Amino acid sequence: MYRISVIGSGYVGLVSGACLADFGNEVICVDKDKEKVERLGRLDIPFYEPGLVEVVERNVHERRLSFSDNLPESVERTPIVFIAVGTPSGPDGAADLNAVFDVAREIALSMQGYRLVVQKSTVPVGTGRRVRETIAKHLKGDHPFDVASNPEFLREGSAVQDFTHPNRVVIGTWTTRAASILSDIYSPLYLNETPMVKTTVETAELIKYASNAFLATKISFINEMAALCEAVGADVQVVARGMGLDGRIGDKFLHPGPGYGGSCFPKDTRALVGFAAAAGVDLRIVRATIETNERQIDHMLDRCEQVMGGLAGKTVALLGLSFKPNTDDVREAPSLKIARRLLAAGAQVRAFDPVAMPNAARALPGLKLGTSAYEICEGADALAIVTEWNEFRRLDLERIKGLLKTPVLIDMKNVYSPERVRALGFRYVGVGRPHPAGSSPAVARAAE
Ligand code: NAD
Repeated sequence: MYRISVIGSGYVGLVSGACLADFGNEVICVDKDKEKVERLGRLDIPFYEPGLVEVVERNVHERRLSFSDNLPESVERTPIVFIAVGTPSGPDGAADLNAVFDVAREIALSMQGYRLVVQKSTVPVGTGRRVRETIAKHLKGDHPFDVASNPEFLREGSAVQDFTHPNRVVIGTWTTRAASILSDIYSPLYLNETPMVKTTVETAELIKYASNAFLATKISFINEMAALCEAVGADVQVVARGMGLDGRIGDKFLHPGPGYGGSCFPKDTRALVGFAAAAGVDLRIVRATIETNERQIDHMLDRCEQVMGGLAGKTVALLGLSFKPNTDDVREAPSLKIARRLLAAGAQVRAFDPVAMPNAARALPGLKLGTSAYEICEGADALAIVTEWNEFRRLDLERIKGLLKTPVLIDMKNVYSPERVRALGFRYVGVGRPHPAGSSPAVARAAE
């Protein structure tokens, strides 16, 4: 059993803390946000994450998990300290590391005896070294310590399962003492034969960025292929399947759509390009991935405009606000980018999401929200599906057709079969799917 504090109780810190407590450790989840800590004390989870409340409740009742806004006291009581604070994009796209260094300073001032400080936040290569320097500079007394990197790969929406059944655990250390403590903390995962990648702090830091940039690249790649499919009359769904069946490629992350969003891919790709450039390396592929992703929103807007015959004065019913299903996180969500652009073009937007509406209302004040998928369709000029929550996969399309002013379905996640929807009398627009009659603008032009 280890005594652990996790500093930062957001999506990563709270899930990590609760799951580490579930492994049998005594964990204090710390946050500077007093209101968040108070809510957690009442077992009121401040965000939507399936399965998390059960793990939190179980471990609070077993007295293995507690919450605090008192970092010094928590660090005094726990030899292991995980840092899981946010590292958002700064104005120039670089990761804003203020919270990380604030916490490093505070840890230094509160240390009593050996401390292992584990960086779980996603941070540019070299941050671990700077955290070590920061702690050494502010340390009160002669306390030994190690700094390690243990990047997190959990996905919102399946975070508990991902933390407890990860594809791999990456442990970056400079000393055998730190490596053996971290391996031991994760030893409950040996039962699942989870691979452990043990390396240096710098390499561990880069593994996280390289992984996210690669996944983002897969998404931008298939979105480019989707644009080509639209131009030449091919079907990207079948292209993706045909590619994905090749084991070297794999079928994951080959889903065309309005582009990637969320709290990680956009900020991590930007930060990676920035710190690589500072090291004299031009990451052209990652730059192209970012550019393609930004263009994808323009492309979606163009498609809306084409199918609706202009945007000004039109009303769009927008389904799905979270950046992906099963989370309430709307950070850099394509839905909000699209809503902002529609509003700027003079359209009205009415939106619905099963759980993300409170966050969306904070991020985009004035966004009109409805109480159901059907309510927002009433009198609208088109229905646009942006996030593929399961409950949007089997809508009563006959009913929706009756509610819409004009039967237009803009299916940005290719949830529906174009043939079926068109047979119901809708005008249908997907992403990278052939136009009716099997032709496409480019193919038609070539045939002339
Ligand atoms: P988050 O914004 O949900 O949570 C961060 C928390 O840190 C907040 O509750 C905030 O109040 C707290 N905090 C900030 N400064 C603090 C301080 N000085 N002292 C104490 N608490 C402080 O962020 P998140 O989504 O959990 O991400 C955290 C890190 O993990 C980021 O670096 C992110 O890139 C990385 N990450 C996120 C995910 C994900 O899916 N969200 C996945 C893998 C890695």
